[in-house]
Amino acid sequence: MPLPAPDQLFGVYIHWPFCARVCPYCDFNVYAAKSRDTSALEAAILSDLKAHAKCTPNRKLTSLYFGGGTPSLCRPDFLKDVIELCETLWPSKVPIEITLETNPEDVTPGALNAWKAAGINRLSLGVQALNDEALKFLGRNHTRAQALTAIEAALSVFPNTTIDMIYARPGQSIEDWKGELSEALGTGAPHISLYELTIKEKTAFAKQVERERFIPLDDEAQADLYTETLSQCADAGLPAYEVSNHARSEAFWSRHNLTYWQSGEWLGIGPGAEGKINLDAGRTTTQAARKVSDYIEAVESTGTGWADSFTLSGREAAEEALILGLRSKMGVERAKLERLFGEPLNDVKLTSLKESGHLLEEDGRLKLTEEGWLLADYISVELTP
Ligand code: SF4
Repeated sequence: MPLPAPDQLFGVYIHWPFCARVCPYCDFNVYAAKSRDTSALEAAILSDLKAHAKCTPNRKLTSLYFGGGTPSLCRPDFLKDVIELCETLWPSKVPIEITLETNPEDVTPGALNAWKAAGINRLSLGVQALNDEALKFLGRNHTRAQALTAIEAALSVFPNTTIDMIYARPGQSIEDWKGELSEALGTGAPHISLYELTIKEKTAFAKQVERERFIPLDDEAQADLYTETLSQCADAGLPAYEVSNHARSEAFWSRHNLTYWQSGEWLGIGPGAEGKINLDAGRTTTQAARKVSDYIEAVESTGTGWADSFTLSGREAAEEALILGLRSKMGVERAKLERLFGEPLNDVKLTSLKESGHLLEEDGRLKLTEEGWLLADYISVELTP
């Protein structure tokens, strides 16, 4: 699948808000699945897509992402309906990356074949850990053995499978993580996303930390684990192409995530989903209603599920392009930044960051080095005129 040019990335994100159980670290807009009739939500999502098509004519779809929540709980026929509708609304001549997030316990031969038949061509597996004690701590429903079996089964049907892992867990040593990461890399998955455990407000983990049930790793220990992660992945042939994402080659870079990092356009469909589209008024953030019933009501009464939308100023759009653009190896186009900021970047600061080995400028694009990724937020502030 060739990589589209940064300005041609156009994605659709579908948020399916239900999960078998809610993990203690998760701050996404999710609800326990229970047994529910989801037909009204399915109908609202399909209507919302049609309404969005009216304000995004002539776009060519490059990626479709079913996230959540746990979208693998959706009926395969619904996934198929969404895929076919998107292909009709934003026809594209290039192959479309179509990703489904799933959990290891949902991966069965029957499910894999049904997802493939529906049109999915990339799986994102929420493995999170390859250690039963850690999986219990993270509140996951699967075991290490189930995760390994699921990865093997997924790869046999979807060669483009990515796995998500969470590290920098309380008490995790570099040695422990090296062993676990080595096993994850040894599965043969061509893409791996590695996230440090962060304690988000209002989650069950935030309460546990407040009650001193566990102590999160300090910044220094996290930075050491991050450095180890970068070098181990590179040695295994999956170098980082973004702060937390590693791939065997450009062919496996996530088109959908690149759309975010390159400030492309994407539609946020489903309860609580956020989108970014370029309208006549300027770059616009759309925010769908969070509660499922509010979302359905918004679609039925106004056409889209938006609870809110606001237009970014040129400066806000520039800051977004800078912060997100520096996250990936593609970097960010300097001329675009200067146009959006309405003034040149500070040459003295640029030169100093290049001399210290944190930043490169290639073909008119600013890119962070691996040392630079450790200081990505600081560097974005430094470069803001
Ligand atoms: S399965 Fe994923 S989306 Fe659902 S609660 Fe757990 S981390 Fe959040």
